[in-house]
Amino acid sequence: MGKQMRVLATKNLSVSFGGNSVLKDINIHIERGEIVTIVGPNGSGKSTLLRAIIGAQPLTSGQVEMISKQIIGYVPQRLNIDETLPMTVYRFLSLPKRQQKDNMEAALQQAGLSGLGKQQLSTLSGGQFQRVLLARALIEKPDLLLLDEATQGLDHSGSADFYRQIERVRQELGCAILMVSHELHTVMRTSDRVICLNGSICCEGAPEVVKVAPEYRLLFGLDNAEMFASYHHHDHDHDHHDHATPRHEEAV
Ligand code: ADP
Ligand code: MG
Repeated sequence: MGKQMRVLATKNLSVSFGGNSVLKDINIHIERGEIVTIVGPNGSGKSTLLRAIIGAQPLTSGQVEMISKQIIGYVPQRLNIDETLPMTVYRFLSLPKRQQKDNMEAALQQAGLSGLGKQQLSTLSGGQFQRVLLARALIEKPDLLLLDEATQGLDHSGSADFYRQIERVRQELGCAILMVSHELHTVMRTSDRVICLNGSICCEGAPEVVKVAPEYRLLFGLDNAEMFASYHHHDHDHDHHDHATPRHEEAV
């Protein structure tokens, strides 16, 4: 991978909503070619952090620093589109900005969707649609790719496939990848580093280090740490810390 090159860093990044602190003094950095994953319970500020990084969320204090102008590709957690609307994949990729066919085709190929450009969105499987969103984020050849729970709604093998695709993207483009995930088990295998977030950073480091960190275990529950993907199924036999159960305050 060569010499490390910083793509982005945040300096004491803080965000509040109406006096309510959601992110406090977040310091993260990401180097070229790295896959960094943010994990944390619902409402812990993961999406807000990604939105702050792309400039869609004003900061209360702190900074987002980039060494030079970096292109950022972003796959949002939710996208409001009417799936019954007749629209081909090519057309969707050309919104909001018209794109050249060659670039769209290259992005589709990188997302593992070669030849699907003329297909109607409404005919795609959940996994294919997530890859269309990935392709959309890849068109501009990003230096940094941000993925917000990109495998939400996919079954286990679907999301495992998706993460393999992400690793191929990293290899082919050499871009840095910062993603948010609920699937800790899969994430542990895919990530170079894991950042455990709960309003502030609880712990971070190599997956094998985070996995045994007390802060991480408190947040996710001792035995449930690896099973978090199925967190709707609570195991009440175990002694949970207060924070081990994700808060369900809204549809996130
Ligand atoms: P996560 O992605 O980790 O589930 P979010 O970043 O979406 O969490 O939200 C973190 C907290 O910030 C939640 O309590 C949410 O209600 C709140 N929040 C997010 N966006 C806004 C907003 N635009 N206005 C007010 N509160 C918000
Ligand atoms: Mg979120």
